[in-house]
Amino acid sequence: MARRRQIYEGKAKILYEGPEPGTIIQYFKDDATAFNAQKKGEIAGKGVINNRISERIFTALGGIGVPTHFIKRLNMREQLVREVEIVPLEVIVRNYAAGTIAKRLGLTEGERLPRTVIEYCYKKDELGDPLVSEEHIACFGWASQEEMNDIADMAIRINDFMSGMFAGIGIKLVDFKLEFGRLWDNDFSRIILADEISPDSCRLWDAETDKKLDKDRFRQDLGDVADAYQEVARRLGLLKDDKGEEGAVLDFDEHRNKRGK
Ligand code: 5GP
Repeated sequence: MARRRQIYEGKAKILYEGPEPGTIIQYFKDDATAFNAQKKGEIAGKGVINNRISERIFTALGGIGVPTHFIKRLNMREQLVREVEIVPLEVIVRNYAAGTIAKRLGLTEGERLPRTVIEYCYKKDELGDPLVSEEHIACFGWASQEEMNDIADMAIRINDFMSGMFAGIGIKLVDFKLEFGRLWDNDFSRIILADEISPDSCRLWDAETDKKLDKDRFRQDLGDVADAYQEVARRLGLLKDDKGEEGAVLDFDEHRNKRGK
């Protein structure tokens, strides 16, 4: 088989040219980074789990009419997506105080915010993805006003949907990060949801105990990182049983095929 052309390697994913023009293959790695890649490590099986969790969420969002880049999952670590021109913004949606907002504004971690807050960060690793205002976005032309309206509307809808979805499995959606892209059709483009949604990009706390079930376990050296990701997958119904062994517990078609069932 011909080698695929690699388009880009990020901190947690590799992008390859897809089989058709306008498509891309997203490969999910086990690599984990934090604090703008100053902290590096690996979370065993993370790529496999994030591929499945992100597939589940993107499919569900597509089902409620949110346009996304997701086409289909290809195998344990890869999914086929539409090629977009990424808007250079990280769109952060917050329901409870945690992370940088808690630090910046002196809030107590876990405090419910008076209302949902959307923040924008300029995607620029060299600058550590700084927080920016809509004035900066307009001034530097990172997105048009119409695109920002679409992004904010989608972010709120996604938050409403995901908050309910996670509440149903005993998880509090503290905050999360989204990325959007432009899908071009001749001279016209529309904004669609891109990248991934997983415990790498969300803060997810157990609703009863506030136990962290996300990348903060890695960032803060809390231990049992892979277990926490598996717990989210298990509650979403993506794990078949409880043996705790990566792969064997995941309900993948390819595993069934390998076993000849
Ligand atoms: P904070 O600004 O508090 O560090 O992050 C807010 C939310 O956005 C958290 O859920 C965090 O996981 C997510 N987030 C912020 N920056 C990044 C990033 O560069 N990559 C990923 N995967 N998630 C991010």
